[in-house]
Amino acid sequence: MSGSPRLIVLSGPSGVGKSTLLAHLRTHSPDWWLSVSATTRFPRPGERHGIEYYFTDRAEFETMASAGDLLEWAEFAGNLYGTPRWPVEDKLASGQSVLLELELQGARQVRTSMPDALLVFLKPPSWDELVRRLTHRGTEAQDVIDRRLKVAREELAAESEFDVSLVNTSVEDVAAELVALTRAPGP
Ligand code: 5GP
Repeated sequence: MSGSPRLIVLSGPSGVGKSTLLAHLRTHSPDWWLSVSATTRFPRPGERHGIEYYFTDRAEFETMASAGDLLEWAEFAGNLYGTPRWPVEDKLASGQSVLLELELQGARQVRTSMPDALLVFLKPPSWDELVRRLTHRGTEAQDVIDRRLKVAREELAAESEFDVSLVNTSVEDVAAELVALTRAPGP
């Protein structure tokens, strides 16, 4: 990757396809280091500890948060999510760019604490498409889906806080757009 290492934050409503994009980048874009978050959410089928997330309990999470070991953290739909601080700082210091996938509150915290970060908002082609994706994922109960849709409306309203928006038409296209963006000079 050309230029200095960058911190890239990928955000956008639940169900928009951030995880699919991340899985794609994991195999197709070795330039970036993808941060692995800690969460108190239970693993979905196929999710592996240390790959998609570090699955922790609330007590362990709260210990990390109060020790300052999380770069940011937030509660989302009843669970806690946070970015382990030290791996991110180590990678940036060693010259590697880092990608974080965060919900809105976390993105706002990074905007404040690391103003050079590039904040990217991933949005669905339409609201109906988002509802379809969240509902058809089949991994959440209806009350969880409803909660996530309510938060999604709030998250979509925050698009203007981001440096750039990308529409998730296809995973390949949006991955290519993201790579092109991060090769551009920093702000
Ligand atoms: P999910 O439960 O669908 O994997 O994630 C729920 C939301 O939490 C998503 O919007 C995801 O981007 C966000 N998220 C994942 N990891 C982190 C993190 O470390 N910090 C914050 N603030 N949000 C996260």
